[in-house]
Amino acid sequence: MNNSCPFCNIDNQSLAFASVSEFIAIYNISPILPGHSLVIPKKHITSLFELSEDEISDFFSFARRVTSFLCEVYESDAYDWTLQEGTEAGQSVEHLHLHIIPRKPGDMKEGEDWYAQLQQSIDPQNKERNKLSENEYREISLRLSGLWK
Ligand SMILES: [Zn+2]
Repeated sequence: MNNSCPFCNIDNQSLAFASVSEFIAIYNISPILPGHSLVIPKKHITSLFELSEDEISDFFSFARRVTSFLCEVYESDAYDWTLQEGTEAGQSVEHLHLHIIPRKPGDMKEGEDWYAQLQQSIDPQNKERNKLSENEYREISLRLSGLWK
C-alpha cells in the first residue's frame, strides 16, 4: 500500500470488475479506446521482476482471461497489450500495470501517438482526453463486473 499511488487507492480496488488472489482488473479512467482496461497487482509492486514464478503465471493467465472477456464484451477480434516499465519506457505510475486494449479496424488514425496517449490515460492529473466522470466510471465497472464469470 502506497498512499500516493492511484492504483493503491481503495476506490479503484473496490471498482475492480474482476479479480483473482493477487490481481485485479480495472477499467481505465481515461480509456484511449472503448474497453481499455488494466490488470494490476493488489499490492504495490513496481516491477514484473518482483513477482515470483507462481505470481507471474497467475498474472498472465488472469490477463488472458480478462482479454478474452473484453474482446467478447467489446466485440473485438484483436487487442493490444502494453506494459511499460521504467521512466524511459513511459511508465507514469510506479505500480505494475498491463494495459489491455481491444482493437477494431480503423479505431486509431495513422500517426497517432500511442505512447503519449497511454501515459496520459492513467495520469490522475489528466483532466482532458476521454476522462470519464465518476458516475460513468462506476457504471462501466459495475456493468463489466456483472458480466464477468
Ligand atoms: Zn500502488
